Amino acid sequence: MTYPVRAYAAHSPTEPLGLFRFDRRSPRSDDVVIDILYCGVCHSDLHNARNDWGNARYPMVPGHEIIGRVREVGTGVSRFAVGQLVGVGCMVDSCQHCGPCGKGWEQYCEKGATYTYNSKDRVDGTRTQGGYSEAIVVKQDFVLAVPEHLDAAGAAPLLCAGITLYSPLRHWGVGPGKRVAIVGLGGLGHMGLKLAKAMGAQVTLFSRSPGKEADARRLGADRVVISTDPQQMAAVAGQFDLIVDTVPYVHDVNPYVPTLASGGSLVLVGYLGPLDTLNTGPLVVGRKSVAGSLIGGIAETQEMLDFCGQHGITADIERIRIQDINTAYDRLLKADVKYRFVIDMASLKEEAAA
Ligand code: NAP
Ligand code: ZN
Repeated sequence: MTYPVRAYAAHSPTEPLGLFRFDRRSPRSDDVVIDILYCGVCHSDLHNARNDWGNARYPMVPGHEIIGRVREVGTGVSRFAVGQLVGVGCMVDSCQHCGPCGKGWEQYCEKGATYTYNSKDRVDGTRTQGGYSEAIVVKQDFVLAVPEHLDAAGAAPLLCAGITLYSPLRHWGVGPGKRVAIVGLGGLGHMGLKLAKAMGAQVTLFSRSPGKEADARRLGADRVVISTDPQQMAAVAGQFDLIVDTVPYVHDVNPYVPTLASGGSLVLVGYLGPLDTLNTGPLVVGRKSVAGSLIGGIAETQEMLDFCGQHGITADIERIRIQDINTAYDRLLKADVKYRFVIDMASLKEEAAA
């Protein structure tokens, strides 16, 4: 038995997203069927829907910050029970045999991870479709247990924005005594402030937007530096062990390099494509690195959710109806969001049933 679902899909790079009906697969023995309660709106959804990365296939149902409750489990599912609060992030499968998968780095699978949408299912070759929908069917190995005491809507962005910041913070050894800076106060950036603070670091925000200072401090920043002000940039020269840059579009990263301490790393999480220039002098003199990072593995995502459960961390969100998704995309482009849109999937019930 397949599951007919209502969803919102992009049908081309230029048209607004609109209602789309399709069938979810009949659960395989290791599948979990999830009724979706909430789905966060990531800037990657916008990049994908508008084909910024050149690999879009339509119709495309975006959404990879999924929170829901288990409706049904396959006969071989042991880790999840009907009614449980669960999450699904950016991946729904990987080869599970290669070196990176063996280390729990499914996001770096040598055969390519299967993404939650705009990807091809490894078993039957059908297109994967994401969380802007009523239900999803996912292999249990890629389903996460969400602490029941967290606000379900606020927890949705942990599945992408949360893990995308948690993973580099952990990989680069953030903890008490470390000096961390986050570039950009959007969905990812605000999670970076909260997580780095909870890990005990000294936290700075680099922002283009002077109006965000008070919020940044409330979210965990000890200091705010306006990145367009050369005097403020000069005042933090040599300060940071780690900078995580969350800006979604090509920008000059050179001004941030001198603010790294010796041995420090600037980690980019946006897929920016080629940068015009990168001055290697300040990297060589000071053993500094410029690196990248992609979400996190499944075990690490569970660790992050448990960490957020212990520290009571969720995203600051603005709940929207699915019918408002196109306005939300326009506002995301203007960095007008505090600090993550989350779709209440109950709004899909207003659309005529499939
Ligand atoms: P977002 O909510 O739109 O936030 C981006 C922030 O970047 C803005 O709030 C703004 O902060 C700053 N910014 C600087 N220049 C900008 C510009 N030209 N246009 C818009 N914002 C600009 O985005 P997000 O959801 O956090 O995602 C950020 C990037 O990470 C996206 O490219 C996304 O695709 C990528 N991403 C990567 C991964 C990964 O695993 N590597 C995972 C998820 C998302 P200020 O106003 O403070 O300057
Ligand atoms: Zn995302």
